[in-house]
Amino acid sequence: MQLINGTAVAARVKQRLKAEVATLQSQGITPGLAVILVGGDPASRVYVNNKKKACAETGLYSEEHTLPEDTTQEELLALVARLNQNPAIHGILCQFPLPAHLDEQAVIEAIAPHKDVDAFSPENVGRIMLGEPRFLPCTPAGVMELLDDAGIEIAGKRCVVLGRSNIVGKPMAMLLLHRSGTVTVCHSRTRELASITREAELLVSAIGRPKFVTADMVKPGAVVIDVGINRDENGKLCGDVDFDAVAEKAGFITPVPGGVGPMTIAMLLGNTVTAARAVAGSQRGSRSGQWGAARMNHCSSNV
Ligand code: NDP
Repeated sequence: MQLINGTAVAARVKQRLKAEVATLQSQGITPGLAVILVGGDPASRVYVNNKKKACAETGLYSEEHTLPEDTTQEELLALVARLNQNPAIHGILCQFPLPAHLDEQAVIEAIAPHKDVDAFSPENVGRIMLGEPRFLPCTPAGVMELLDDAGIEIAGKRCVVLGRSNIVGKPMAMLLLHRSGTVTVCHSRTRELASITREAELLVSAIGRPKFVTADMVKPGAVVIDVGINRDENGKLCGDVDFDAVAEKAGFITPVPGGVGPMTIAMLLGNTVTAARAVAGSQRGSRSGQWGAARMNHCSSNV
């Protein structure tokens, strides 16, 4: 079994980005990310702090907009509108979940598509579907980078994705499909799940259930990627995969923590740099910064 070390791969990606940020700075552009946080959810606070720290390490400018829990939809949309107009900001991210009285989809759609570095807007989701992404979906793109870094071929592989959310499962399936994997997507209504996962040469789990994937659900030698971030019965961080038992059987496996998690942030920084590069290209009047350069089948080169 080979352990896929997401922390190490993310550090290499950030090194590459640092060099790219320096080049952009020599052209007078510092990639800038604005992060919006509404309310005091402790997990969201940790995620926002991690994003700010990663920006600082990589040379990106970041600013945080923390709004009170009782912020109105109008106030939140007004902030997004200001950030859309701000030339120092190339990427805008609103940390979800929002308090229940706020409409997440309306916020996603208010962010200018060329600043939507989470790639959640209908336009950016559509581009991913077409294989012409402007930005790559952060977590699935992080998984692809891990697979590429480990030299794992996807074309022709029997791939099974557990979970069909808009932010992980669906775009994950799409990226694998664009790389010519043969992809099955499973969800809570899937029957005989274990018989499907046992066929997987590449299994990606994104369901949010602690240690759900047990050794008997895994094909010997399979590549097992664990996106889940959960707490076990003792409150300890764990993934969707029963790591110790599955590691005995898998060919490759990602740990939690230290697997997919660090990659998601690295890909977010990559998208912000991509957004700034597009501005630099348009200022030069050249096509070099235009969208569409990052074709789906070359997604690892996007960062
Ligand atoms: P969602 O809750 O939005 O989606 C979960 C999906 O899993 C749904 O499609 C659901 O099916 C499916 N599911 C739930 N239970 C089962 C089950 N028993 N059998 C089969 N399918 C099931 O979660 P997210 O996609 O947002 O996140 C998934 C996990 O990944 C979470 O643990 C989250 O914390 C983590 N995550 C990690 C990231 C990282 O950077 N590492 C980034 C984003 C998320 P149905 O559609 O039928 O309800």
